[in-house]
Amino acid sequence: MPSPSPASNSDCVRIAVLGDVHGNLEALQAVLAEARALGATRIVQTGDVVGYGPDPGTCLEILRESEATICLGNHDAAVLGTLSTDYFNPYARAAVEWTRQQLTGEQMDELASLPLVVEDPDFTLVHGSLHEPAAFGYVASVVEAEDSLRLQSHRICFVGHTHVPGFFGVSRSDQDLQVCFDPEFSMSIGGFEKSLVNVGSVGQPRDEDPRAAFVLFEPEQGTVRLHRVRYDLERTQQKILAAGLPTVLADRLRLGV
Ligand code: ZN
Repeated sequence: MPSPSPASNSDCVRIAVLGDVHGNLEALQAVLAEARALGATRIVQTGDVVGYGPDPGTCLEILRESEATICLGNHDAAVLGTLSTDYFNPYARAAVEWTRQQLTGEQMDELASLPLVVEDPDFTLVHGSLHEPAAFGYVASVVEAEDSLRLQSHRICFVGHTHVPGFFGVSRSDQDLQVCFDPEFSMSIGGFEKSLVNVGSVGQPRDEDPRAAFVLFEPEQGTVRLHRVRYDLERTQQKILAAGLPTVLADRLRLGV
């Protein structure tokens, strides 16, 4: 008897890494459909499942059903009351307070169970930066990327928080830090000692591209590729307005800011 079908390229593990869903159900559904069409069998999320958007509970449920691996974001922590909203802008604070009223006790418990950092055999996951993860600093510059990379022991770490996708890699040959902000980057991490990947945002992109963002990671091949997905953002905008959330939260979705 011949052995069962040998591992082909289509059998390789594909992980969809999502960031900053922010209660945007239409964007989440569109991204999950695209990720599955591309062969992703595992879902990972870099935090901020809730806040800003009109469907926080449903987004949490869908990610739970997808058995997603998730770390804690600053909006998640603010909704739980473990992070002060003093430094949030008034719109973000209003959304946090609204979101708190929407979630069930079980959903709040689920948020409370999220770790600040996930160390997985295939990757490290943190919302903002490995440098003081509970302070939720941003990785938006080379200096900030270096602060996080210095503390990174895994070959690859995924972050979100800025809602702007980007790639930072420490070169294996000369230890130089290479940076890529290509709007649809595709990188091979083999040449890098360590890679730090900002996966952008599913539910509220801020790189002036309103399409939802996510990264497809193939650990065996060592590739990361940013994908962008159109979704029915008019529907999300209508729901934001119907919920009585600040109008600016609807407006910004069209602009991608
Ligand atoms: Zn966020």
